[in-house]
Amino acid sequence: MAEATVAIVGRPNVGKSTVFNRIIGQRLAIVEDRPGVTRDRLYGKATWKGRTFSVIDTGGIQFGEDDELLKSVRAQAELAMDEADVVVFMVDAKAGLTHADREVAELLYRKSDRPVVLAVNKVDHPKHRDLVYEFYALGFGEPIAVSGEHGHGIGELLDAVVAKFPDEEPVEPYGDDVVRIAVIGRPNVGKSSLVNALLGRQRVIVSDVAGTTRDAVDTPFERDGKRYVLIDTAGIRKRGKIYETTEKYSVLRALRAIERCDVALVVLDAKDGVTEQDKHIAGYAEEAGRASVIVVNKWDAIEKDDKTMQRFTERIRDAFKFMPYAPVVFVSAATGQRINLLLPAVDRVAEEHARRIPTSVLNDVISDAVATTPPPSDRGRRLKIKYAAQVAVKPPTFVLFVNDPELLHFSYERFLENRLRAAFRFEGTPIRLIARAKDDDDRE
Ligand code: GDP
Ligand code: GDP
Repeated sequence: MAEATVAIVGRPNVGKSTVFNRIIGQRLAIVEDRPGVTRDRLYGKATWKGRTFSVIDTGGIQFGEDDELLKSVRAQAELAMDEADVVVFMVDAKAGLTHADREVAELLYRKSDRPVVLAVNKVDHPKHRDLVYEFYALGFGEPIAVSGEHGHGIGELLDAVVAKFPDEEPVEPYGDDVVRIAVIGRPNVGKSSLVNALLGRQRVIVSDVAGTTRDAVDTPFERDGKRYVLIDTAGIRKRGKIYETTEKYSVLRALRAIERCDVALVVLDAKDGVTEQDKHIAGYAEEAGRASVIVVNKWDAIEKDDKTMQRFTERIRDAFKFMPYAPVVFVSAATGQRINLLLPAVDRVAEEHARRIPTSVLNDVISDAVATTPPPSDRGRRLKIKYAAQVAVKPPTFVLFVNDPELLHFSYERFLENRLRAAFRFEGTPIRLIARAKDDDDRE
């Protein structure tokens, strides 16, 4: 199920980030305690009146220098109009109506049919409510007074936003037999070249269809009777907007595509090696529980000897410690070299991602693991695993019924995961282990 998206726009310093943080509260899409994962808070999730939606803080995306204020505000507004179902246009009660506000209003008015909710921030006290009146002049109806700092008016704002959502949540249009692929990576690593190389191959039957969100364009294709869809190829295949070449936007785009995919192709540029941003992007795929293939592109462009590939793989393993399971494919979108290895890799990891292990086999592996390496004791107490069951696929998720979930420590969890991988491999996919208390049959 694709969710509605809300974008917050407005000139700098009106309080977009403050209100954004209020809206998403603790429900950050991004788990913050993992190494190698950014704290970019420009995208989060919220639930209000039973609707879960994504929120984008366009202010978190920097476009150019400070003296290019209008250009930057314009790029933000454009991004919001392209990405969002509802736009929250934020202004500042203390500063009053400014030229830049009018500029944003003009853009939203002329170029977009997205519903707009006008939020007047920094109304810190009810007695300042009449500060909102001058903003009626912007032509977006009744302004909603909020105070991001004090948390006032956020509920009213969200009421207005949710009321403007499309009636039906859009439904993911592809069946389970279709492998949904996201091509993600920094700007210029070669994503669009790769997509074209993939689709340009013989026996691939392509058609563009509208995606689930407005303006998202997915590209379904078939090969050897198997069905795939490249998720959200709009930003990849047609380009030209200012914001599309910014790194933060590429992260945002990746996050949105990751949400809807089964398999992420994490594209790196062989000429650049592995960068921090590559790690962040891959980290999101891992956290979201998607299968991944690491694609090193531009392999034609570097000097090589017989050890280069091995050394590059080692560097990747070292940098991407959080996804040791991901296969690495070295390709050149420009020459077509080894592009034919991509879809087979996608097939393999998609299958592993959806794999079910019979309960008896699973329990055999777990009890063998426990027999050879028992859990360490923790202040005289020891973890006891009664049995295990796979409760979900995509990614494979296992519940361990134990005497006390607190006793399953990270290192033992890691050990069990390694044993499961030794037995079943699970190439390309994260797996999840969940400890749950089971004591009813254990009382003396
Ligand atoms: P952005 O650039 O639009 O994202 O704005 P920020 O969220 O970074 O806020 C800009 C400044 O306004 C910061 O100093 C905030 O503390 C301040 N601010 C944000 N919300 C409020 C508010 O409701 N009342 C007041 N008085 N200040 C606020
Ligand atoms: P995107 O921003 O990730 O979609 O990257 P593009 O596909 O637009 O490629 C960025 C640049 O890298 C372009 O100049 C491409 O011609 C170049 N490029 C893409 N793939 C390859 C490749 O396999 N080898 C070489 N040498 N250049 C490539």
